[in-house]
Amino acid sequence: MRVIVDLNRCQSYGQCVFAAPEVFRFRGAESLEYDHVPAAEFDRAVERAALACPVQAITLGRHTEAVTEAVADADAVAVEVR
Ligand code: SF4
Repeated sequence: MRVIVDLNRCQSYGQCVFAAPEVFRFRGAESLEYDHVPAAEFDRAVERAALACPVQAITLGRHTEAVTEAVADADAVAVEVR
């Protein structure tokens, strides 16, 4: 499964962290981090996290090879920008 969080919409309520701590976590007080393509064993927890988000900031999609490569490319670009 592919996970995308709209960090502009996220209000750091932390419901996703409680629902799926293996996938969502806070770095510091309010900076949300998450796995873009978590292991399939966490699919149910990720679905619960998306439903629990009070501002509907979490979007779920199907995991494909192309998506995995696109996420890896985006992460690489993000690292280069920093
Ligand atoms: S539950 Fe939603 S608003 Fe709260 S931290 Fe997670 S993504 Fe952000």
